[in-house]
Amino acid sequence: MNGTQFGRKGRRQIGIQWKMYAILILFVAMVVGVLWFFQVRMLHYFYQSRKLNELEICAVTVSANLENSRDLLQKTEQCASDYYTDIWVYRIDGNQANPIAHARGLMDTDIPYLESKMERLYNLAMQNEGFYIAMVPLNEFYNSMSFEILDDNMGEPESYPMIAGYTERLSAVYVGIYHQGAYRYLVVQSTELSPMSAMMNTLQDQTLWSGLILSLFALLMAYMMSRLITNPFIKMNDAAKQLAEGKYEVNFSGSGYREINELADTLNYASKELAKTDRLQKELISNISHDLRTPLTMIKGYSEVIRDIPGENTPENIQIIIDETSRLSELVNDMLDISRIQAGTRTPEFQVFSLTDTVRDTLHRYERLCMQDGYRIEFSCDCDVEVMADRGMILQVIYNLINNAVNYTGEDKYVLVKQSIEGDNVRISISDTGEGISEEQIPMIWDRYYRADKMHKRATVGTGLGLSIVKGILELHQASYGVHSKIGEGSVFWFELKAFRDMNY
Ligand code: ADP
Repeated sequence: MNGTQFGRKGRRQIGIQWKMYAILILFVAMVVGVLWFFQVRMLHYFYQSRKLNELEICAVTVSANLENSRDLLQKTEQCASDYYTDIWVYRIDGNQANPIAHARGLMDTDIPYLESKMERLYNLAMQNEGFYIAMVPLNEFYNSMSFEILDDNMGEPESYPMIAGYTERLSAVYVGIYHQGAYRYLVVQSTELSPMSAMMNTLQDQTLWSGLILSLFALLMAYMMSRLITNPFIKMNDAAKQLAEGKYEVNFSGSGYREINELADTLNYASKELAKTDRLQKELISNISHDLRTPLTMIKGYSEVIRDIPGENTPENIQIIIDETSRLSELVNDMLDISRIQAGTRTPEFQVFSLTDTVRDTLHRYERLCMQDGYRIEFSCDCDVEVMADRGMILQVIYNLINNAVNYTGEDKYVLVKQSIEGDNVRISISDTGEGISEEQIPMIWDRYYRADKMHKRATVGTGLGLSIVKGILELHQASYGVHSKIGEGSVFWFELKAFRDMNY
C-alpha cells in the first residue's frame, strides 16, 4: 500500500507497513533463533547434564538400600525403569563379586560385553577413590570395539567430562563402590547420554515449522497493524488536502486512538481558526474598502465644492477635509500597527515612565471633545505610579481603550478612567455606561477586524483593529488584561502592569 516513496524533498521514505514488517520479522527471527539455540543446539548439553544427574540420583537411591535385599531389588527396578538405565549391584566378598541385584532400563545394551568388564570397572573405581565415570560414543561402546576408550574419558568425580554440543550419540558408564556393614558393594550403571535422534529431528522440524508459522503471523499482524495505524493518517491527509484547498468545513475525525484523536482535535481547531481568519479577512476587505471609500468620497466632494463654488472655501468645509484625512491615516496606521505586531517586527523598547502622567496626557487630547460634545471623562488615582514598558505602545493602549469607551458609552456621555494598585501591579480600568457586550461576544472582540455591530455606524465605530492592537501590545508586555461587561450595564476594560516604583511612598 504505502511502500517506499520519495518524499517531497526527494528523501527516501519508508512506509509504516514496511517498518512493521521489518520489526516483526526481526522479532520472529529472534524468537526462532532462541528456540533453535536451546532446543537444537544446546539440547545435548542439557540432556547430558540431566542424565548425569539422574545417574547420581539412582546411585544414591540404590546405595541407601544395599543391606535390605527386597528393598534393593525394588529400588533398582524402579530406578532402571524411571531413568532408562541398566543397573548391576555386586557384593564383594573377598575376591568374589556376587551379583545381588540387576535391572534393565535400556533396550540395546551389550550386556555380556559390559558384564565381562566388571572387574576392570571395579579396579578403575578403586584407583579413583571408589568412583568412576566414563563417556564414550555410543557406536564404539555397543560395537564392543575397544573398552580402552573409557580410560581416555575418565573424569574427576566433581567435574564430569561434559561434552557439550557433541552431536554423535554418547553413552555413559557410572561406577560407584560403597562400604556397608562388613561388605563392599559395586554399583554399575549404564545409560544413553544423548537425546534420541528422532526427538532431535522432531524438535528441529518443530522449530522450523514454528518459525514459518510465526513469520506468516508476523506478516499478517504487520499488515493489520499498519492498516490500523495508517488508515486514520490517510483519512486525515485527505481531509488536510481539502483544507489546503480552502474547504474549511472539512472534519478531521480520529479513530479511537488517543494520539490521533488529539491530532484530529488540533486540526479541527486549526481549520476553525483558518475559517474564522478567512471570514474576518473577507469582512475586513469589505469594511476597509467601505471605510476608505467614504472619507475619500467626502474629501473629493468637498474639495470639488471648494474649487468650483465661490464662497464655499469655509473653515468648516476645510475642517471636514482635515477630519476625513485624519480618519484615513488612523485607519492606515492601525493596519500597519497590527501587521507589524503580528509579524513580530514591532518589539517594545522598555523604559521607566509615569503611567499616571501618560493617562493624564491622553485625557488632554479629549478636552476639546468634552467641551464641544459634552463628554465627561473622569480620572481617579490615589498616587503617581511608574512602570517599565514601551511608553508609545502603552499610550496607544490607553488611547484605544478610551476611544472605544467614548465611542460606545451611553447617553450620559460619561467615561471613568481609574488607576488602582493591585499588589505589585498597577491597574488601569476604563468604564463606560454604554450598551455593554454580550457574553458570547466578549471572547471575539479581541480578534482582528471583529465588530459586534455589523451595521457599521461610521460616526462612532473605529477600524475594528483597536482591541486587537491592545491585545497584541499587552501580550508583548506579558501584561494581564480583560473586560467586565453586561448588556445594558456598560463595560469596564482593564489592564495591569507591574508597578516600577510608587513615587509617593
Ligand atoms: P472598533 O474599531 O470597531 O471599535 P475594536 O477592536 O476597538 O474595533 O473593538 C472591537 C469591537 O468590540 C467593537 O466593534 C465593539 O463591538 C466592541 N467594543 C469595544 N469596546 C467596547 C465598549 N467600550 N463597549 C461596547 N463594545 C465595545
